[in-house]
Amino acid sequence: EHLVNRIAAGEVVERPASALKELVENSIDAGATRIAVGLGEGGLARIEVADDGGGMTRADMALALERHATSKLPDEAIESVSTLGFRGEALPSIASVARLTIESRVAGAEGWARTVDNGEVVRDAPAALPPGTRIVVEQLFARVPARRKFLRSARAEYGACLDAVRRLAMARPDIGFSVEHDGRRALQVAGGQDRPTRVAALTDRAFADNAVPIDFDRAIDSGAYVLGGVASVPTYNRGIADHQYLVVNGRPVKDRLLMGAIRGAYAEMLPRDRHAVVALFLDVPMGEVDINVHPAKTEVRFRDPQLVRGLIVSGLRRALDEAGL
Ligand code: ADP
Ligand code: MG
Repeated sequence: EHLVNRIAAGEVVERPASALKELVENSIDAGATRIAVGLGEGGLARIEVADDGGGMTRADMALALERHATSKLPDEAIESVSTLGFRGEALPSIASVARLTIESRVAGAEGWARTVDNGEVVRDAPAALPPGTRIVVEQLFARVPARRKFLRSARAEYGACLDAVRRLAMARPDIGFSVEHDGRRALQVAGGQDRPTRVAALTDRAFADNAVPIDFDRAIDSGAYVLGGVASVPTYNRGIADHQYLVVNGRPVKDRLLMGAIRGAYAEMLPRDRHAVVALFLDVPMGEVDINVHPAKTEVRFRDPQLVRGLIVSGLRRALDEAGL
């Protein structure tokens, strides 16, 4: 069992940023309105995620650390899952390759804490905390040299962690996020924002003030494809390729097809050495997209990739045309 978890850990968790992403997704799935992330040494020493979501009872907690014991899988087909997680692999995987502490409390019930150190339960006791969940991951892969050696510098791992939170924060402007790294605040956005406000908060003013709104849709038999968001003017002169955000059905996505479509739309206007800053929110009918391609879930597969590509190119072109660009 421990070995199976360790093998799965290689799939689900390959570096601090992927563990962090799983934890923050769990907080989102738990209905959190505020998610506070703390990092030590780029997440190599410590990753902490605290939320005000629904929490876990003592029994939930024990179950959560068992493999494939997700509380989320609905009865319906897998294409229709609305939660970010549904495999029940993240917590047991992380617990098998780090020291994992879960503290959690459901409103009206007793709080509980459990620590699992590289697969072994070393603490299981009542705990006092506000309703919600706090999870701490320490010394990820410290006892798995084969994986530890693939990790990069604390600085690089920190960059990846911040990027992972930014992408989730872009996808969920309704939720408040904060990130602290080695005791210093790295990011803070309030909850209850709309998309343009969140885009401005996560990119920068210069971009937000010059951005062109995108608003495009196309009807198909099973519903509508709706594309919203903002795109920077093509003269925007900053090499920030990482400020290209794609959100599909409320999930952050990194997808080669979509990135290619953005490049295509900008092709005639954008000098090679410049990057457009783009935040695109694409909503498509369930069944038109398969988010189940890989456990890391940043890739998606569209039923009709050409339709999506065309939509993005047309949507971007029209927005830029209307802005006289
Ligand atoms: P999955 O997200 O695929 O269900 P995980 O291993 O990520 O699997 O989590 C296992 C279970 O632990 C979840 O199904 C959920 O019931 C519970 N859980 C994890 N994190 C939280 C949290 N922050 N708040 C409440 N419940 C949580
Ligand atoms: Mg999960």
